[in-house]
Amino acid sequence: QVYLDNAATTNLRKEVLEKITEIYEKTYANPSSVHSFGRESRALLENARNRVAKNLNILAKDIIFTSGATESNNLAIRGIVNAKGKDKEIICSSIEHSSILNLVKQLELEGYIVKYIRVNENGIIDLEHLKSLINENTGLITVMAVNNEIGSIQPIEKISDMIKGKNIHFHVDAVQMIGKKELKPYELGIDSMSISFHKLYGPKGVGVLYIKDNIEIKKAFYGGEQERNKRPGTENLHSILLADIALDYAINNMEKESKYVKELMDYLVDNIKDLENIKIHGENRIDNILNISIKGKNIQMLLPILDMRGIYVSGGSACMSGSVSGSYVLKNMGLSEDEVMSSIRISLGIHNTKEEIDYLISVIKGI
Ligand code: PMP
Repeated sequence: QVYLDNAATTNLRKEVLEKITEIYEKTYANPSSVHSFGRESRALLENARNRVAKNLNILAKDIIFTSGATESNNLAIRGIVNAKGKDKEIICSSIEHSSILNLVKQLELEGYIVKYIRVNENGIIDLEHLKSLINENTGLITVMAVNNEIGSIQPIEKISDMIKGKNIHFHVDAVQMIGKKELKPYELGIDSMSISFHKLYGPKGVGVLYIKDNIEIKKAFYGGEQERNKRPGTENLHSILLADIALDYAINNMEKESKYVKELMDYLVDNIKDLENIKIHGENRIDNILNISIKGKNIQMLLPILDMRGIYVSGGSACMSGSVSGSYVLKNMGLSEDEVMSSIRISLGIHNTKEEIDYLISVIKGI
């Protein structure tokens, strides 16, 4: 088994795995219960919140724990636009994750005006185009930090400079960047940001919405007053405690682990880039994501061949794997139909080895 789909999700880090039983056994009181056992849970939750905040370079009061980045994106964007009203326009990159693109499409149906930022052939948003879309009615801009299919790093700082002093909410889906590169939300003028822990060797079904506590958002659900009265429901305490451990290890070992993954990636790229039928997509990429097309090999046959050889990769993103029409990200980058339909995403992680990459290279050469 060679798991090369780390942008879809990762396996737990051993330090997280080791803590599961203890956390589930000992910590089960509801953090909202007023007895001392409940207060113990509350203290553990708030300790985790403080450390998560520190590791994300934000303040604990700006954190809302959610069920993952899909919820964080929905809560932030719907919450903001509902609070701002339909007079305010939404600007969104054309290569956002489906949890944003499908949401803004729904908002369009509900009467909101949505404008889409073009991307260039390398999967980077066109800043001049963005500039032309901004006007006095712009209420929200949403651009991801790193694209999940191509790995292209987006010019977050430049966007933030462009809108400085304007009353525009800036949302960033930072799922594919956190734990790989440092991000300073306050310095970058980011008003809200989504993260998901299962992409950084933590548990699935838990995420963070960072949103400055003075920003008004309309609630998506009604219930108790948990999470600043913005996200009701008993907190997912066990997963939050494990998520905190995962993030802490990721941040404290980021330099070392990123270097390790980069070396594996450079080795892979060096060995396949000159092959006749291979084309590598995107530029200015994060170290762990590589998107290539193999000329003449449709993913419908390519993926099963790789699977039979024990290699697990994706065609596009996992969230779009039900789609047979091919990746909208690659299409928006201007790739031909053939290239789109013959492209795979290989995403590496800290648990991969050079031997696995050698095996992948030999299988690709065989194909
Ligand atoms: N945004 C991006 C960029 C992603 O890669 C993902 C995961 N596929 C999500 C959002 C959704 O995250 P989650 O699985 O936690 O809902």
